[in-house]
Amino acid sequence: MILLIPGPVTTHPEVKAALLQDIAPWDNDWGHRLAVVRQRLLALAGGVSGRHAALLLQGCGHFAAEAAVRTFVPRGGKVLVPITGNYAERFARLAHEAGRTVVRLSVGPKERASPAAVARALAADPTIGHVAMVYSETSSGIVHDIAAIGREAAALGRRTLVDAVSAFGALPLDIAAMPEADAVFFTSNKCLEGMPGLSAIVVDTARTAACAAQAESWSLDLADILRHGQTSGWGSFRFTPPAQVVEALAAALDRLDSESRPARLARYEANMRTLYHGVQRHGLTPCLPEAIQGPIVLNVHAPEHANWTLQGFVDALKPEGFVISNFHNTPWPSFRLGCIGAIGKSEMEQAVTAIGRALDRMGIVQRQAGTAQRQAA
Ligand SMILES: *Cc1c(COP(=O)(O)O)cnc(C)c1O
Repeated sequence: MILLIPGPVTTHPEVKAALLQDIAPWDNDWGHRLAVVRQRLLALAGGVSGRHAALLLQGCGHFAAEAAVRTFVPRGGKVLVPITGNYAERFARLAHEAGRTVVRLSVGPKERASPAAVARALAADPTIGHVAMVYSETSSGIVHDIAAIGREAAALGRRTLVDAVSAFGALPLDIAAMPEADAVFFTSNKCLEGMPGLSAIVVDTARTAACAAQAESWSLDLADILRHGQTSGWGSFRFTPPAQVVEALAAALDRLDSESRPARLARYEANMRTLYHGVQRHGLTPCLPEAIQGPIVLNVHAPEHANWTLQGFVDALKPEGFVISNFHNTPWPSFRLGCIGAIGKSEMEQAVTAIGRALDRMGIVQRQAGTAQRQAA
């Protein structure tokens, strides 16, 4: 079965095989392997040893997001969140629940977050200490210009937190060129093509140490994770790690090394274009104009047809060998197709054929989105 979702993704057999072992996570030999994985992630993020560190945290991306906001934004501190979609909303909620003050900046569902608007919001309120931004907004499929937004924040003396969860491993990222960034976080199971269960946060070490004991949580305190690494060595976790997931990530990083990050991005872009043009040939309408469509996830307007239900479509695709999400994250009815994972041209072409067959079986011949829907779009 091929997962056509924006994470967790379809993985290569070598990545799956790395799970099949028992591991003593406190053993020195394994600790060495762990330290190497950390080092490789740091290098991939453009981190500089001594100035940056790649911290690992058990759990999915939300845990990393909460750890970042708790560690770097003090209680009562303000964080500006450009509301680019569902993932920005989730970040705003995590920050709010943690007792941090969220300042929302609205962004249209088909727009890139505007660096000038961020600058205006920051200038209007000097008490905002941070900007939290989503690099690839997985709900819309739009890639935002984190470098330009970061420059505006830096110019006004503010710090940034970057959600690179559905970007890291494919889209370019160089934390050494982002001196305003306190943290960039991501997970093992999206563009890195590993297994779920592990998140990573690349941090500025001096800033992290300066934020000690601010998190109001032991589990999610990145300053404590940094201190642990510095004092106990980088080959250990504070608490039981998902060691098999780390091993799968090591295998996934080998594959990324041999493919190269730019080639991976090019493969995802080609995947997206095959799907984009393929659904158009079936009479369907992608939600975004091609110029603003990112390479990670493609949303397609639901056909306006009495036979359409998203769950029915999901169920009709399964016998064809594909699983897609049974929810949509757009303001209008849609379905979404992930373009990432260990899949390429032939899987994409098969997916396009499968989509046509599933719609045929559902008796959906008129496949345009309704006029109202398209106008809202
Ligand atoms: C997947 C994702 C997350 C985290 O999701 P989890 O399910 O907690 O791993 C956060 N931000 C973005 C942009 C994502 O795509």
